[in-house]
Amino acid sequence: MENIRFKALETTLSRKPLKFDLPTGKISDYFGEQTFNHVSMQEFLTGEAFKQVLRSIEKGEKIDRKMADQIAASLKAWAMSKGATHYTHWFHPLTGATAEKHDAFIDPMEGGKAIENFQGGQLIQQEPDASSFPSGGIRNTFEARGYTAWDPTSPAFIMDNTLCIPTIFVSYTGEALDYKTPLLTALDVIDKAAVAVCQLFDKDIKKVNATLGWEQEYFLVDTALFMARPDLLLTGRTVFGHASAKDQQLSDHYFGSIAQRALEFMKEFEYESHRLGIPLKTRHNEVAPNQFECAPVYEETNLAVDHNQLLMHIMQKVARKHDMTVLLHEKPYASVNGSGKHNNWSLATDTGINLFTPGKDAKSNLRFITFLVNILKGLDTHADLLRASIASAGNDLRLGANEAPPAIISAFIGSQLSRTLDEIEKSKLNGKISNKEYSEMNLNIPKIPEILADNTDRNRTSPFAFTGNKFEFRAVGSADTCSNAMTALNLIVAEQLKEFKKEVDALIKKKTPKTEAIYQVIKKYIRESKRIRFEGNSYSQEWIEEAEKRGLSNLGSTPEALKAYVSEETVKLFEDNNVLNSRELNARFEIKLENYVKKIQIESRVIGDLAKNHIIPIAVRYQNTLIENARGLSEVLDTKTYMKLSRNQVQTIKEISEHITEVKTLVDAMLEERKKANRMPSFEESAGAYHEKVMAYFEPIRQHVDKLELLVDDELWPLPKYRELLFIR
Ligand code: ADP
Ligand code: MG
Repeated sequence: MENIRFKALETTLSRKPLKFDLPTGKISDYFGEQTFNHVSMQEFLTGEAFKQVLRSIEKGEKIDRKMADQIAASLKAWAMSKGATHYTHWFHPLTGATAEKHDAFIDPMEGGKAIENFQGGQLIQQEPDASSFPSGGIRNTFEARGYTAWDPTSPAFIMDNTLCIPTIFVSYTGEALDYKTPLLTALDVIDKAAVAVCQLFDKDIKKVNATLGWEQEYFLVDTALFMARPDLLLTGRTVFGHASAKDQQLSDHYFGSIAQRALEFMKEFEYESHRLGIPLKTRHNEVAPNQFECAPVYEETNLAVDHNQLLMHIMQKVARKHDMTVLLHEKPYASVNGSGKHNNWSLATDTGINLFTPGKDAKSNLRFITFLVNILKGLDTHADLLRASIASAGNDLRLGANEAPPAIISAFIGSQLSRTLDEIEKSKLNGKISNKEYSEMNLNIPKIPEILADNTDRNRTSPFAFTGNKFEFRAVGSADTCSNAMTALNLIVAEQLKEFKKEVDALIKKKTPKTEAIYQVIKKYIRESKRIRFEGNSYSQEWIEEAEKRGLSNLGSTPEALKAYVSEETVKLFEDNNVLNSRELNARFEIKLENYVKKIQIESRVIGDLAKNHIIPIAVRYQNTLIENARGLSEVLDTKTYMKLSRNQVQTIKEISEHITEVKTLVDAMLEERKKANRMPSFEESAGAYHEKVMAYFEPIRQHVDKLELLVDDELWPLPKYRELLFIR
């Protein structure tokens, strides 16, 4: 029988990097050419239609049917000029992936001919057969139908000769069945709430956009090696594998020169991305071997989320051409760093100000402090929701593993700002501050330099770190959509800003001068939200203890973390702002729990299968060789010499036996726990049981299997080893 690992290695080692030649010229020549951007709109739309689309993007204005027909006709003309034959509504169902169902543009005509057709109705609304998408029970009670509706704020694009139209996906009863709908509402809520607060300082500000710049981490592995690992194939991560003698301890991969094969792949997926208008800018090697990162220039959040979803798809598609597989899982390999998706977030005004940058004068500094303090306060109030928004089986393995932020939500703002907030908190107001007295002295705000020293003052261990002009939410999982995190974060801050405005207005009503009112509320918030601020090493054991003393949650597992989705506070927050109602939240809670249960169930099955059908038979085979050898020795050696020389061999035989027995026993016991977990009456209980009872066997089984990997002849071992997965490129 052939060893599948060696076959895979042979294939991998014989590969030559597939060269990718970029077209000659500049990136800007082809950037966005596959999108219905302003340039193509101006070319294909009438002036009136173009203005209408802009109004609907900027102000959310509805597009009437006649106009929709006109836009659809232009969109079709543009798409066909680019070779598109099909169109699809492109949406984000609750599976976490994107969905598309292609329809050809053609309509049959009499006489056996056909004509390309695309009407406003087809652009604006579609009714995909939605019954197989998760709905968390929403559709069981009502109609099974759902519909998709055009989101004009995210430009249509062409991929594989198909015109893709970004849409929301909702049920006929109006409930959201996707991740885009609540995000769009949350973005609208923060726009309004932030504008209201901005108006305290500057009446010219009429619109605030939440911006997002994500950083995507990933691993690459040769597809032959990937295919030879049933665990990678089915779960996206390795469930076994002894650490490689060398992995990341020499820190020689991070920012190192990019291997040719990886680089050719990057060039091609960047090219595809740029044509689709994704402003990818940065690429580099990450900490772990064969781990990489890419990041675009930040964009408006809804667009950035769509672009990230699209990018993950493009990466996987292009990697296949290069005989590689992209691992987006948060923790593909146990002994090296996992992957995250840092979400850099800020708020930008229509007057060109980033609200997270201190300004030139005391007034803009007070505005800056106002936003900063409201973020901290909101974070403190709804930390559990933010934690829930990033919960997944994969992310559980990464959070708190001494390479990624812990499951404890806290914020880092740097020593300079910490000092500033401390001083404001301690300051005593000498009489009332009149509105004219915006000077630092009177406000007791220490001078904040315009450019904060972010690079010298970085804390890479914080889950939520201020980095000079943006917050970086680092706990998002690499495979996840940014949608949930961005919906939660923006909504939390929006609610807090609304609350702030209310408190300030109440004081103003009682004749407190505006500036002082702002100051007073800020002071109070600084005091109240103090515990969420942490400047030290978030990876340390001391922080875990300290956080517990402060009463901060440390929700290490998805089943625990998800509960915050249906807590009273969360339901109120989402309902008050019309983002999601309690039924919709409960549906999401159910879907996420079910997904968790299934993921762990699959992992557990893969562990069982690999252990019993791949590892143990090989271990037994090797053991037999050793036994035969020992027997042979006993025949050729005299008893005394034999006793002396065979000790080691007998010892190895015993060790292998012990590990085999342990693995078998543990796998059988795990199976029993799985049966029990499967019989639980609800996904909530089942998820709890999978986490506490079933997963409890993963590490012990792995330990024995990994020991066997060290004992068994390398030539027999069936699974590609860590050194091969991590270092072959
Ligand atoms: P790193 O955090 O790795 O040092 P950078 O500071 O260069 O990287 O930025 C990382 C990401 O932050 C990029 O995607 C960048 O576009 C984004 N970013 C920069 N400014 C903002 C902002 N104001 N709002 C949102 N994202 C931003
Ligand atoms: Mg970063």
